[in-house]
Amino acid sequence: MRKLTENKLVLASHNKGKLVEIAELLKPFGKSVISAGSLGYDEPAETENTFEGNARIKAHYAAKHSDLPALSDDSGLEVQALSNAPGVYSADWAETPNGRDFDMAMAKVWDELQQSQTLAPYKARFICVLCIAWPDGHDEVFRGYVTGTIIWPMRGEYGFGYDPIFQPSGHNETFGEIDPKAKHAISHRADAFQKLTSECLCD
Ligand code: IMP
Repeated sequence: MRKLTENKLVLASHNKGKLVEIAELLKPFGKSVISAGSLGYDEPAETENTFEGNARIKAHYAAKHSDLPALSDDSGLEVQALSNAPGVYSADWAETPNGRDFDMAMAKVWDELQQSQTLAPYKARFICVLCIAWPDGHDEVFRGYVTGTIIWPMRGEYGFGYDPIFQPSGHNETFGEIDPKAKHAISHRADAFQKLTSECLCD
């Protein structure tokens, strides 16, 4: 397992919600973080059908273009009764000609659950795969998750994406309602990040 000894790294994501959460998680490690967007290149097409495959595409693309180690996040929501959809297509479900609309995407999840005629609780999990890639082509990949249920109607203003319909196990509030610090402590991203730090950032 390769250690991240460099002090500077690129965050290979253009998603503001993820950038905020990852920058927050990286803070204690004293790394200087640059976003791929601020370096002026766009995101590569996510052509793989796994979180790992797409995380690798994004991290290698940013590492190659910046000549710095790059950290990517590929994540999404898996709903058990929908055969794990939207999964790697979580962002695609929100696409409209005028940009992403997550109220629409969450309504689609709920509609499909009603059509599936399964009964509550609607088990779901958020998955996060983090990849660090180095300019020489080496990479390390870590998967994290958090389990919970889909609720309706959506609740809460915090977070991003599907947070208002996801209630983590053992909590009565959705990720849209709980304090962002509490989300950061238990989220799929925190789980993957904890694995990454114990392998790549600690002595
Ligand atoms: P991608 O990894 O860029 O393909 O996008 C993943 C999509 O999954 C995001 O646009 C969000 O819709 C959703 N997602 C990933 N992580 C979270 C989260 O922590 N909360 C809510 N939605 C998330």
